[in-house]
Amino acid sequence: MHLQMDSSCLRCHYPSETVDHLFWDCTIASSLWPKILEWWGFILQDIQPNTKSLKGILALARGSNLRQAWEIVVSSTFWTLWLARNEHIFKGTEISLENSLLLVQLRSFQWCLAAELIKS
Ligand SMILES: [Zn+2]
Repeated sequence: MHLQMDSSCLRCHYPSETVDHLFWDCTIASSLWPKILEWWGFILQDIQPNTKSLKGILALARGSNLRQAWEIVVSSTFWTLWLARNEHIFKGTEISLENSLLLVQLRSFQWCLAAELIKS
């Protein structure tokens, strides 16, 4: 039996759906990260090349007393991008940029509550 794997991105048809492509460069990711940065008040027009890594994005809040909350927001953003990818591939549904941002904010709030970073 011979299985042929199509490794292209099913959302934007980029030839290779790598981790970097999925989480930083694909259409929704490259639009969502600037919204997240804007929400948090970071003065960056676009995500910078040296920020496009887990280490780089987490470093934005290094030394801040909001560092743990930022880690949750970053985790929530990755999780939301992954779920949106799967929704597209397996259900054929597209989650809009606006709804993706709302989902990140909702998950971040819930996870910050669970981590007792904020009180209800
Ligand atoms: Zn893509």
